[in-house]
Amino acid sequence: MKEEWEEKILCATQCSQCHERLDQRILSVYDHQVVCMECKKREEVRPDYDEVSKDMIRQCLVDTESRYGDPGGFCYHHFYPYTC
Ligand SMILES: [Zn+2]
Repeated sequence: MKEEWEEKILCATQCSQCHERLDQRILSVYDHQVVCMECKKREEVRPDYDEVSKDMIRQCLVDTESRYGDPGGFCYHHFYPYTC
């Protein structure tokens, strides 16, 4: 599980929404895909963003803790930009 998301998500080279090349990247709270900072800004102004992000982090921590303890900080990459 861990290796799978790290390979696909952590080092993705393209934004999943606008297909721009990624330098800094962050994860969408809506679909867990990698997006660029511009797309993240658009996501953050959606009216349901607060609610969706709270639900996402709660569920993410439950899922990752029970499976592999979130070693790479997967849940937190939805809120903190990271580089590959
Ligand atoms: Zn983008």
